[in-house]
Amino acid sequence: MSSIDFATLARRDADDPLAAKRSLFKIPADTVYLDGNSLGLLTHQTAQRVQEVVQAQWGDDAIKSWNLHDWVDLPLSVGNKIAPLIGAEPGQVICCDSISVNLFKALSAALRLQDGRNTVISTADNFPTDLYMVQGLSELLGEQRCQLQLVDEADLLADPQRVIDETTAVVLLTEVNFRTGRRLPMQQLIAQAHAVGALVIVDLAHSAGAMPVALDAWRADFAVGCTYKYLNGGPGAPAFIYVAERHLTQLQQPIAGWFGHAQPFAFDPIYQPSPTVKQMLSGTPSVLAMSAVDAALDAFVDVDLQELRNKSLALSELFLELLEANGLAGSFTCISPSTTAERGSQLSFAHPEAYAICQALIDAKVIADFRAPNYLRVGFTPLYTSYTDIGTAVARLSTIMQQESYRAPRFQQRHAVT
Ligand SMILES: *Cc1c(COP(=O)(O)O)cnc(C)c1O
Repeated sequence: MSSIDFATLARRDADDPLAAKRSLFKIPADTVYLDGNSLGLLTHQTAQRVQEVVQAQWGDDAIKSWNLHDWVDLPLSVGNKIAPLIGAEPGQVICCDSISVNLFKALSAALRLQDGRNTVISTADNFPTDLYMVQGLSELLGEQRCQLQLVDEADLLADPQRVIDETTAVVLLTEVNFRTGRRLPMQQLIAQAHAVGALVIVDLAHSAGAMPVALDAWRADFAVGCTYKYLNGGPGAPAFIYVAERHLTQLQQPIAGWFGHAQPFAFDPIYQPSPTVKQMLSGTPSVLAMSAVDAALDAFVDVDLQELRNKSLALSELFLELLEANGLAGSFTCISPSTTAERGSQLSFAHPEAYAICQALIDAKVIADFRAPNYLRVGFTPLYTSYTDIGTAVARLSTIMQQESYRAPRFQQRHAVT
């Protein structure tokens, strides 16, 4: 038997100022969903909006919809809706492409602004696609123009001045580490980079929609992020890119497409970039996907991001407390920082049987995920995760561990997506 006081958890839910947001979401039946850091849940409004865009807009109004339903403005209007969630004044954020492609654009643009410097610094355990983008660009431009230098996150934190110096062109950092959930002190690192003339690109994949972000106040140069994690935009939803206003006039990004042209419908043979953040666009926006993002973002209306952050940390602290109270803390080594200020909105645990345990949890309708080599990740999405959910998750985990049901062969089988 697990030792969990569900009456107390119900009281915490009743007192939760964000509790009402849960009803906006389609929560899979009898399920505790702790994977919103990988794919956020669907809101009822998003489902309705997609239906409407397909049937009434595309279906009835067809091509007239580009003007009639403002399809053509979606990248910027959605960008402006994301802006307050990441501490940006309007006109600096646009929704398009994937993080990977947006990083390629931001990296190229940033390097062009850094005459005579070629070093791009990133952390060795950054999300691999971020590093692949630097490697691909290095291949294209040559190492004299772009050279990746990987540093250990611990070394960067211990002595940023030694790592970022006058030879650094660009610092590419993900605020919250996808494996460990460690959150970097972005404001301090950006200040250090700027002090030696380096530019900073911030990846907000695990930040946007999970905690307050202050890009303008930090004076970040560029940022990218995705909308399918904490922003609930749907599988493969288009990402976003932020360019600080001060860089907009001298910018040049390499995937110069007609939607980034100053006048796309002039069909001019010579490329002339838009003077606005629209220059980060390349081709035609994915209207169905972007409409879903637009609708999903409405869940954040009236949300106080500090309140969201407080709940996120309260949920994670509760998870740790209940693991301890149920005698599970000894077998799961928490690899996330113990100080809440240094954490994102997830906890990661090392366990030699993490993969099988994750499969057994999913079978028991607790959706967590596994990251190689042996980490179990649980994500907290304050808009729809309740305190009772955390109790249910730990109770089910406790049963799995006591009965060792994860040892069943069917839980050992690896799937393509983990
Ligand atoms: C999820 C994630 C990505 C995903 O990139 P896409 O190109 O949008 O698939 C990139 N970087 C980080 C840090 C992530 O967590």
